[in-house]
Amino acid sequence: MDPAMPSAPIRVTVWHEHVHDRVNAAVKKLYPKGMHAEMKSAIQEHLGSAVTVRTALLEEPEHGLTDEVLANTDVLTWWGHCAHDQVDDAIVEKVHRRVLEGMGLIVLHSGHYSKIFKRLLGTTCSLRWREAGEKERLWCLMTGHPIADGLDDEYFEIEHTEMYGEFFDIPTPDELIFVSWFEGGEVFRSGCTWNRGKGKIFYFRPGHETFPIYYHKQVRRILANAVKHLTPSRCSAPVRLEAPCIDPPLSPIATVHEVDQSLHEH
Ligand code: ZN
Repeated sequence: MDPAMPSAPIRVTVWHEHVHDRVNAAVKKLYPKGMHAEMKSAIQEHLGSAVTVRTALLEEPEHGLTDEVLANTDVLTWWGHCAHDQVDDAIVEKVHRRVLEGMGLIVLHSGHYSKIFKRLLGTTCSLRWREAGEKERLWCLMTGHPIADGLDDEYFEIEHTEMYGEFFDIPTPDELIFVSWFEGGEVFRSGCTWNRGKGKIFYFRPGHETFPIYYHKQVRRILANAVKHLTPSRCSAPVRLEAPCIDPPLSPIATVHEVDQSLHEH
């Protein structure tokens, strides 16, 4: 076993909107058990007994993300496309809080437009797109990064995919791990990380539902790598989610200062 792995298994929840692969014949044929089943299998294939993976679906009560599930999730993966608006704001709020507390969040493909991703990043997360079955070449810009572990070249290709192009309206990533080139001419920041509170976020672009993306060797490896990398650090330092007034101060302050309390009332 990798000595860097924590002794307790990483608790992963694979969240899926699960609409296209129920109602669209082509997607259903490609993913008869749903895309979430293939994501789960990819994570298990690479991480084995170091993970426990459950799935959660939009159609389930509380979208499968009950307080109990969220409290027992180290890393959450998120795939949504046509039903972002159906995700309850109260659940988004809870996921947001869990990320700030340290839960890892992997946002996949069209999850760029999910409520939780936009909430955490604070921008529109809009982009250009085209579905023409073109080739994508993903260049790795951080070959030493744990999320790129196992890649055997400086790039890998997906033969047929949907294009996402810049400008991608996101805050500058903390780390830019992959950039995509597309046959039709565009480029795109395809693998990005951000830190929010104690949590880490990884956005990974591949995953269009009408192509067999989640059967792709490198995509599966990167998904598993990201789970491992986003696992909370078990750092005991407190996370601050509110803004308390610190009075009295930690040490005496010599200045005599009158406070107008009315300016601090909300
Ligand atoms: Zn798509």
